[in-house]
Amino acid sequence: NSTNTHSLADQLLSLPLQSQPGFGLLFDIDGVLVRGKMPIPAAKKAFEKLVNSQGQFVVPVVFVTNAGNCLRQTKADQLSHILGVSVNQVIMSHSPLRMFKKYHEKCVLVSGQGPVLDIAKNLGFEKVVSVDMLRESFPLLDMVDHNRRPKLPVRYSNTNLQLIIDILLTNGNLSTTHHTQMSPHLPLLACNMDLMWMAEAQSPRFGHGTFLVCLENIYKKITGKELKYEALMGKPSELTYHFAEYLIRCQAIEKQWKLPITSLYAIGDNLMTDIYGANLYNRYLEERVTRKNPKTVAKMVAATGSTTAMPQEEEIDNTWESELAPPSATSCKSVLVCTGVYNPNTEVPSDANHCIKETVFHGHRDFRFDPALVEPVHIVQDVAGAVDLILEQEKFVPQ
Ligand SMILES: [Mg+2]
Repeated sequence: NSTNTHSLADQLLSLPLQSQPGFGLLFDIDGVLVRGKMPIPAAKKAFEKLVNSQGQFVVPVVFVTNAGNCLRQTKADQLSHILGVSVNQVIMSHSPLRMFKKYHEKCVLVSGQGPVLDIAKNLGFEKVVSVDMLRESFPLLDMVDHNRRPKLPVRYSNTNLQLIIDILLTNGNLSTTHHTQMSPHLPLLACNMDLMWMAEAQSPRFGHGTFLVCLENIYKKITGKELKYEALMGKPSELTYHFAEYLIRCQAIEKQWKLPITSLYAIGDNLMTDIYGANLYNRYLEERVTRKNPKTVAKMVAATGSTTAMPQEEEIDNTWESELAPPSATSCKSVLVCTGVYNPNTEVPSDANHCIKETVFHGHRDFRFDPALVEPVHIVQDVAGAVDLILEQEKFVPQ
């Protein structure tokens, strides 16, 4: 009733201003802080408020991107250079693999772009094989690429699809023939589900999600069964947010900030990755608060369409929860900016409900389209607007 609302508002207004943060920020990179190699002007303005005179962040901050074709440090160095602040907490699509310790000593095949062997070793994998190494060891397996053109790297090629299918259908023993009824197949971990992405071309380009669509369909066509992922990571997977939350908690501990980090704000320009992901993780956090039993929550999260594919009979392997301590965050609010893929040339809608809904779902097979998940909590013009809004909401005044 109105009396209660009133007294609650009074209480909120009388809260003291905070000089230590009880919140953390997740920044998407492309379309929020930079476009290509150019900084977005609002980014510099935003960081002026978040960095002290020694250039250190006064709130816990992570930079979350679905890019995966370089080392974390390389991305951090690029970003530091472009933005003129010292960035070290970058989460890439493959970063949560660090949590999958049970595979770190196993022999793993890595398929992807960039320095894949270095990336995998950096994440903790000890026995790493690349598609190129396989091709060289088993030259007869690669009938796809007859005319090798060394000057043109083959990207997301048929060769990778062929050799991954070979590995799955031979249970990793390439000298044997295919067994199409192999069940379960070897564990598969996929990073970055983006179907498409914007590069310099006029229209969007195939992303890693397109590669996964091919792999899933080839596997199903050959075996009649669904390909099963051990885990999917990169936004909007809550694995990525769980890892981000963990890094934010670590920063707060390192800086000896006393308040627990209870609120997260995820700032991004993409409804299907940044907003969907933040809202999905928020749903997970809320359910976690209401139900203390983590197993039940994991099942609910899986049932709403996320981390673990096809959870029917099997016990859900809650690797990420056992690897990291439970989250201290109880909410993750999505903040949409208009400097990237979302409505770059239109005015800020006065109401979040005016948001355009996707009519074709470009999300991954194992994620369901839920209109509520692409509804941002806040819409602002740019990242500076986002930071102003958050500092005000949190009543935060840096010392
Ligand atoms: Mg973006």
